[in-house]
Amino acid sequence: MNSASTHAYDPARTTPRALATEAVHAGRDDLARQGLHAPPIDLSTTYPSYDSRGEAARIDAFAGDGAQPEGPPIYGRLGNPTVARFETALARLEGTESAVAFASGMAALSAVLLVRASMGLRHVVAVRPLYGCSDHLLTAGLLGTEVTWVDPAGVADALRPDTGLVMVESPANPTLAEIDLRALAHACGSVPLLADNTFATPVLQRPVEQGARLVLHSATKYLGGHGDVMAGVVACDEEFAGRLRQVRFATGGVLHPLAGYLLLRGLSTLPVRVRAASATAAELVRRLAADPRVARVHYPSIGGAMIAFEVHGDPHEVIAAVRLITPAVSLGSVDTLIQHPASISHRIVEESDRRGAGVSDRLLRMSVGLEDTDDLWADLDHALGETATGLPREWSKDEGPAFSTGRA
Ligand SMILES: *Cc1c(COP(=O)(O)O)cnc(C)c1O
Repeated sequence: MNSASTHAYDPARTTPRALATEAVHAGRDDLARQGLHAPPIDLSTTYPSYDSRGEAARIDAFAGDGAQPEGPPIYGRLGNPTVARFETALARLEGTESAVAFASGMAALSAVLLVRASMGLRHVVAVRPLYGCSDHLLTAGLLGTEVTWVDPAGVADALRPDTGLVMVESPANPTLAEIDLRALAHACGSVPLLADNTFATPVLQRPVEQGARLVLHSATKYLGGHGDVMAGVVACDEEFAGRLRQVRFATGGVLHPLAGYLLLRGLSTLPVRVRAASATAAELVRRLAADPRVARVHYPSIGGAMIAFEVHGDPHEVIAAVRLITPAVSLGSVDTLIQHPASISHRIVEESDRRGAGVSDRLLRMSVGLEDTDDLWADLDHALGETATGLPREWSKDEGPAFSTGRA
């Protein structure tokens, strides 16, 4: 169990490796020397040791700075070697020193908020829209935090002495609005900027390079990539990671080792999946934007496999009519998923806040998967219906739908 070699950031690495290479090899560097190909799944919850003095010293060290204990593991809530492989790999992909994995994206966000609140920094500045449950966690103050919602331009003025975090999503769920992270990081000064990078993935965007201190993922989505793992992860510097591990240890939102294994496997195909699905998404965006049944299409300037569009007709009818596309919440799987944010993913956000954030009742969000583009289009074309607007199919393009990228 050479945990040091599997989870430690390696500043001594001299040859930088490309993202596609890291995706396949990071977190697995020790395997060949051990005569292994697939990473072992370590399901132990506890680890025997005849050296209780040594264990006491290692527990004391963890209580100090939260560094992953050296040597053999102690207890599952303190760290797991299989999960550590995923953490190592994700940190390499995001370009951070460390990463800390949790049982879900919401557990990861909760741990970040608890780290800051436990330092007396209970105030959060956030930009809408956020994922519905992130919005709810902040708005309801469930963890004792207080939120101020602002536009990106209002962040600097909203900061207070007790502000512990600035939180954004870019591209945002579900409108795909984008934020200039570099400018925003500048406005945050010394307050950590958390960027939820779930939609972009490190394949399209590495927020730390633009000044974010914390990168959050719902790993349930693209990182796992197959709709069968629930997980969250925060990529950050080792100092913050230590605090996150201490909170994870104390509150228990750990990731199961089998999930860690599946996530590591998911990462190895992440660049290929994201690029293939993005190419299909871009073509579907082109067709949707030219379609008179569609009022508006939202697609990020950085690309990606998420599409949002507003229909002239009833969005519930579109959901009811898809046959190939899966009518389900969530995203980032190999199959294409469609859902109605006002009914499902953002239902928990108060109606006026939801509308204010640009989540109209006619908006549909689609996560494009790996199916054939023409098959997907045939399903969409059928689901959009012929009669929703009463408009002829060959409607003039200049009266056609608006197309937008980014926040504008
Ligand atoms: C799904 C999602 C979350 C929450 O993640 P879970 O893994 O469902 O807890 C957070 N942020 C974004 C952008 C999401 O899409």
